[in-house]
Amino acid sequence: MRQPGRLVLLGHPVGHSLSPRIHNAALSDAGIPLRYEALDVEPRRFDETLEMLRAERAAGNVTVPHKERMFAACDVLTPLARRVGAVNVFWTDDDGRLVGDNTDVGGFDAAVTQFLGQRPTDLSVGVLGAGGAAAAVLAAVEGWAGCVAHVYNRTPERARLLCERFSAVAHPVDDVGVIAGAQLVVNATSIGLKDDGVPVDPFLIPRDAAVIDLVYRPGETNFVRALRGRGNRATDGIGMLVEQAALAFETWFGIAPSRELMHEALLAS
Ligand code: NAP
Repeated sequence: MRQPGRLVLLGHPVGHSLSPRIHNAALSDAGIPLRYEALDVEPRRFDETLEMLRAERAAGNVTVPHKERMFAACDVLTPLARRVGAVNVFWTDDDGRLVGDNTDVGGFDAAVTQFLGQRPTDLSVGVLGAGGAAAAVLAAVEGWAGCVAHVYNRTPERARLLCERFSAVAHPVDDVGVIAGAQLVVNATSIGLKDDGVPVDPFLIPRDAAVIDLVYRPGETNFVRALRGRGNRATDGIGMLVEQAALAFETWFGIAPSRELMHEALLAS
């Protein structure tokens, strides 16, 4: 694949995104003469924006609310993007086709492996949420030997439909206590993003459980702080953010960026 003509993040809103900082640090470090731009694309302008980007041989990321729409718009989808049902990374191939992929799965997998110090095996996984991030989590769990996931969601029907797609490893539950009792608890809801809400009472989670909150915000989420205060191993979504970005960078440019530099760029922000 030739180097992209332009590198963008498509979302609405995107002003808060940390992705430009991460990618611009990596681009400068690698000596690649491109800047990563956040494009705030209103839903009604999505199709025309995509046509413009295709003509410019653009590549980039997709975030809320466009991940599912991008999935439908791509000419080619990788097997992983199909499995998850959402695209968070895209590029234009040499034939002018838009190709959609998903690095949230690999990003989550790598972040959890780092966090636990080993690839998860034979674990019970409790997943809170049933949106795109939860689908990426279940796609990763599918690759972990002997692991089973239980999924709880505010809207139970959504959890049921998601688990149907991942029926070999995932089961919906209507009792959040089942999630709290898992060995690895994952918050894949957006609770805690804008306030100090927690997706489940931290006191329900045993102290030997490990917890990964996919949400991240300056100073960590209240959920992570409360769990750590109780003695749990807990981490926020920064590790996954960096890993999914690094995997995307590798896809676009064929070289691995410095993860340390990406982390530093985040801390500096
Ligand atoms: P999504 O598709 O919109 O799903 C949102 C999920 O959160 C749904 O399950 C929704 O439940 C639940 N939810 C939202 N508000 C709630 C509330 N007040 N009470 C209970 N449940 C609530 O979003 P997504 O793409 O899956 O993303 C979820 C979170 O993961 C976001 O905060 C995002 O920032 C984070 N994320 C992080 C990374 C990373 O790299 N760290 C990557 C991807 C996503 P209902 O179904 O009932 O609406």
